[in-house]
Amino acid sequence: MSKDIRIEGKSYKNDFAHSGFRIGSASGSIWGADNRITKPLSEQRLHNNGEKNAINGLGGVPDPSGKHLTYYVFTYGCQMNVYDSEILSALMEAAGYFPCAEPEQADVVIFNTCCIRDNADQKVYGRLGDFKKSREKNENFVLVVAGCLAQKDKEELTQRFPQIDIVIGTHQVRHVAELVQQVLEERHQIVAVERTEAGAYGDGYIRGSEVASEASKGASKQHGNHLDLPAQPQSVFQAKVPISVGCNQWCTYCIVPYVRGPLKSRPLSWIKAEVQRLAVGGWREIMLLGQNVNDYGHDLEGGVDFATLLTSLKDIPGLERLRFTSPHPAFFTDRVIEAMADNPSVCEHVHLPLQSGDNEILKKMKRGYTAEEFLELVAKLRQAIPNLGITTDIIVGYADETEEQFANTLSVVDAAQFDSAFMFAYSERPGTPGAIWPNRVPEEVRMDRLYRLIEKQNAISESRHRQRLNQTVEVLAEGPSKKDPGRFTGRTRQNWLVHFPCNTDLTGYMVRVSLDEAYMWGFVGKIIEVIG
Ligand code: SF4
Repeated sequence: MSKDIRIEGKSYKNDFAHSGFRIGSASGSIWGADNRITKPLSEQRLHNNGEKNAINGLGGVPDPSGKHLTYYVFTYGCQMNVYDSEILSALMEAAGYFPCAEPEQADVVIFNTCCIRDNADQKVYGRLGDFKKSREKNENFVLVVAGCLAQKDKEELTQRFPQIDIVIGTHQVRHVAELVQQVLEERHQIVAVERTEAGAYGDGYIRGSEVASEASKGASKQHGNHLDLPAQPQSVFQAKVPISVGCNQWCTYCIVPYVRGPLKSRPLSWIKAEVQRLAVGGWREIMLLGQNVNDYGHDLEGGVDFATLLTSLKDIPGLERLRFTSPHPAFFTDRVIEAMADNPSVCEHVHLPLQSGDNEILKKMKRGYTAEEFLELVAKLRQAIPNLGITTDIIVGYADETEEQFANTLSVVDAAQFDSAFMFAYSERPGTPGAIWPNRVPEEVRMDRLYRLIEKQNAISESRHRQRLNQTVEVLAEGPSKKDPGRFTGRTRQNWLVHFPCNTDLTGYMVRVSLDEAYMWGFVGKIIEVIG
């Protein structure tokens, strides 16, 4: 299927068949090539999911009046939560529920929650109040709270918010549709938060039945958890593939091991099969997900690790960009660096959480590396991978951090020259060692340090971006800019954000863009060429 695209007077030939987009992909998606170009993503999802259910003969779950029941998912938190929302959507649609664009109109509202910071909890609590009276207006209304906050607060949530029908923990996601059905039939609250040996997705979980190996099908049956469901990626160009869930590190500020459980790696052959299927199906960028990706495989037999996995994902037909998040600096072996440098699909970007630049604080955090080792790793990475973008996470005001210790963080930030950073003032997570540390830093001091850090990093980001001016770079177009519909936004392989004027919907296209203006947040440029 060919289509000409005109940009600034030039005409570009685009052959969708060759760009890797397919109708009726192995994932079970029926996104059509023309839909990708002419419709906003939300419309595509609504249109296509309805169509898919009709094709599957499900026709939606009708209430007694024949109206089809709908669902809406709110997503908070990290990439892993975004992925879990894709699973929740796939499960609801496989059970016959239609997606709904407006939460207020939906019959089933699912909050997929995060508890990594206190303000994440507060945001959810605020929104839950909006659904206090929804049952009075709609007798089919079901309110579900899933994810990390559900795992952490369990029954407390239903006591505090009686409008909640179901609390569903991180290991029980796969039961969402049957629990909703149970509530519709029996109308009582359900709290399902048990942990399973199999982890969040079950030992049998693999997206798309077409590629499930006989071995994996056997394993799924053995565990009674055969979830061969079509993928439901929210994006038409980027898909997430979990490689592991849970974490064995127990950093003293972090709630993740408590709510996600210990590390559980997925078998390498399953990950490879899923990446192959998504690449053939037209997803141009794959993000490997895990709480600590480079601890991958330590719980598997056969000596596989993250380096083995990256190497096994080399030369996959159709795979243009491979990313991963998040690696742990203490687990970043030379083999992983070599595997990154040796695989042309792996993007020249690494998100490397520093957390603190002071060795005493790093010890208190139980991070397992020193500031010197971190900077050595940064140097090694930059040497092995030219033009590498490095981003980070930093927490200020942890435990009893002194002004001098904070100054050490500023020094490491200066030395590391990150392209950008997620920066936070420490927020206590009840139940973790950090929450009961004596002589904790007062809130106003934490905030003051945060502003000073942001100021420093912003200046570094702008200067780093200026150094890249006048380059021409490959950008994966993500969609129109939220602030200016006359502009498109996209990301380079280094994860730099680029805006460029564009009046044609190029969502999911690779374009070549000149970097003409540099800012703290990224670049403004213009399209030189549509690659396809
Ligand atoms: S490595 Fe540390 S910060 Fe990351 S998820 Fe595990 S415990 Fe949390």
